[in-house]
Amino acid sequence: MTFHAWFECFRGCNVRHRLDQIVYRCELCGGLLEVRHDVKALRQIPPAEWKRLFDSRLGRASGVWSKKEVVLPEVEEKNIVSLGEGNSPLIKSERLAKHLGIDQIHIKQCGTSHTGSFKDLGMTVLVSSVNQIRSRIRAVACASTGDTSAALSAYCAAAGIPAIVFLPKDKVSIAQLIQPVANNAITISIDTDFDGCMRIVQEITKDSSIYLANSMNSLRVEGQKTISFEIVQQLDWQVPDFVIVPGGNLGNVSAIGNGFLLMREMGIIDRLPRIVCAQTDRANPFYRSFREDFVTFEPVTAANTYATAIRIGNPVSFGKAVKALRATNGIVEQATEAELVAACAEVDRFGFFTDPQTGVALAATIKLVKANVISPSSRVIVISTAHGLKFAEFKTKLHQGQLPEADPTLQNNLIQVPPDVAAVRAAINGRIPA
Ligand SMILES: *Cc1c(COP(=O)(O)O)cnc(C)c1O
Ligand SMILES: [Zn+2]
Repeated sequence: MTFHAWFECFRGCNVRHRLDQIVYRCELCGGLLEVRHDVKALRQIPPAEWKRLFDSRLGRASGVWSKKEVVLPEVEEKNIVSLGEGNSPLIKSERLAKHLGIDQIHIKQCGTSHTGSFKDLGMTVLVSSVNQIRSRIRAVACASTGDTSAALSAYCAAAGIPAIVFLPKDKVSIAQLIQPVANNAITISIDTDFDGCMRIVQEITKDSSIYLANSMNSLRVEGQKTISFEIVQQLDWQVPDFVIVPGGNLGNVSAIGNGFLLMREMGIIDRLPRIVCAQTDRANPFYRSFREDFVTFEPVTAANTYATAIRIGNPVSFGKAVKALRATNGIVEQATEAELVAACAEVDRFGFFTDPQTGVALAATIKLVKANVISPSSRVIVISTAHGLKFAEFKTKLHQGQLPEADPTLQNNLIQVPPDVAAVRAAINGRIPA
């Protein structure tokens, strides 16, 4: 059985390109391209057979490449650049579900990954694809709020391809900044915001020998959509009711939507979850547009937020995300700084270590449960997009009482005592049952 995929205008213009062509937009309407799969060929295999096949590959190192037929079927094995991405845990917390008043909550830990964010899922596909056309490419470049640059740098270093990353000055965490530096990427800090970096990288990559790695390059979306396949597989091929994901440039929410839609076309599932995109109120153009039924779209200037990875005012994948939300009866919710800080602190008390972006998704979940949009009988999946360790400064400040928005009752202060047993006993007293 052979499978086939190609680029096509996501708005439906009759424009097609091979995946080895260096092209990011439709030449007719200027819209983004998307990767289309030969669904007829995929449907030749019965759903039960797909499930058996994917289950038989569960022990493999890469969750993305164990679903190669629905990701990038024609890439040669020798060109695949993998760092063991995907297969991230789906963690069910009965205690947290009870606390929230819903039947089930599972957190999809996409940050449990090589560079600590879901960006690895897309980057393995993009860099493998570049490897396929290596002789035509001098370098790969991206603008980043921190995690894309870490992923690009790691995969390029693994493949021996030069990487160029543009970061907004003082707007990424120390962990995020040091990752590309360590992987020897050309790391450029620019005194602007993400949207400013995005404009520059689009200029630089007009030279087609410098390949663009932002999610307007739809190859990334192909890897990221395996999140949906993994969730359903991890639920024994059942469909959740809600999938909540923090959104910035809106590539990931589009990818997750595509994953569910493709599974339905393949007959693997027979219904769709409602997809919820969660934005910070400091960078909420998608939320604003949702409130107007998506008839208008106004970019905003993104303001300062703890959720730096979604501080984006002009999301490049807006149109694709609208499509994903319309197809899944989706919702956009927003969260304030105080709400995201509280959600992080609250959920960490159930054994998680949430980053601020996931805090936005959790805050949105809490709001939708309160509003009874998420009903008590629901099975909810929250996408954790990064490892909390990448945001250690944020967590430290939270617990040191340095975040003005933080509720002091959610802080856990470090207790300093002299080396004296009585002093230690006094410190413990009152914190545990007598
Ligand atoms: C990139 C990123 C997001 C946002 O994903 P988009 O595809 O830009 O919407 C959310 N959280 C983290 C941690 C990220 O790195
Ligand atoms: Zn078009």
